[in-house]
Amino acid sequence: MLTLIPIPAFTDNYLWLLHDGQRALVVDPGDAAPVLRKLAELKLKLDAILVTHHHADHTGGVDELRHTTGAKVYGPAAENIPKPYNMLGEGDVVQAAGLDFQVIDVPGHTAGHIAFYASGVNGKPLLFCGDTLFSAGCGRLFEGTPAQMLASLDKLAALPGNTVVCCTHEYTLSNLRFAVAVDPANQDLANYQAHCIELRKHNQPTLPTSVSQELLINPFLRTRHSALISSARQFDASADDDTSVFAAIRQWKNQFK
Ligand code: ZN
Ligand code: FE
Repeated sequence: MLTLIPIPAFTDNYLWLLHDGQRALVVDPGDAAPVLRKLAELKLKLDAILVTHHHADHTGGVDELRHTTGAKVYGPAAENIPKPYNMLGEGDVVQAAGLDFQVIDVPGHTAGHIAFYASGVNGKPLLFCGDTLFSAGCGRLFEGTPAQMLASLDKLAALPGNTVVCCTHEYTLSNLRFAVAVDPANQDLANYQAHCIELRKHNQPTLPTSVSQELLINPFLRTRHSALISSARQFDASADDDTSVFAAIRQWKNQFK
C-alpha cells in the first residue's frame, strides 16, 4: 500500500510525496524545507525526485534535497534542471518507489515538459502531470504552441478514466469560474464547482482529480464539444478547427477576470 500526500508550498503549489512507509519519492520539489520536514515527521528515506519541467517553483528544492538525502533525480532531457540528473523523454521508464513510471512528452507549458505515469498504484493508474493539466484548466503556453498543448492534453485524456491525476497547483476554483463561463449548461461542472467550493472552505485540496472527472468538466479537454466551439467563436469568430478553437479558449482564459 502506497500513500500519496500533497505537501503545500508557496501560495498554491503541491509537492507530491508518494511513500510505502519507509521509502519515498517526491515530484517537483520547488522548496526543500517542507519536504524535509515531512520526511522527518514520517521517518522516510527519500529515494527519488521526479521533475516535470524547469520552472523554479518545481525545481528550487532539488539541489538541497539531492545533497541532504542522496536521492536520484529524474527530469526532462530537453530542459535545463539542476544537474546531475537522469535525462528522460517519451518512452523512458523510471523505477522509483517500487513502481515503473512511463515518461510521456507533454510540450506546451514548456518546450520539454514531461509527465510520469504508473499503471498500478493501489489498484489505480497514477499520473504526475506538472503544469500541463490542472483540474478544470491547463498550463499557460509559455514555450509551446496551441497545437502542441492540444496534442499533449489529448495524450493525457486518453489514459484510463480512473487515473489519479496529481496536478501541481491549487488553481481549481479560479479555473472553474472560467469553465462555467465557457461551458454554462454543463451540469457536471456546476456540481463539481459546488463540491470544490466546499472542499476549499474546509481548506482541503481539490486534488488529485481523475481523467474521467476532467473529461466531464475541463474546458481544455472539451474543445471538440459544441458548447466549447460556440464559446470559442464568440471570442474569435475565425476559430474553425480543433487547434484554433483550443487556442481561442486558452487566449480567453489568459485575459479572463
Ligand atoms: Zn510551470
Ligand atoms: Fe508551476
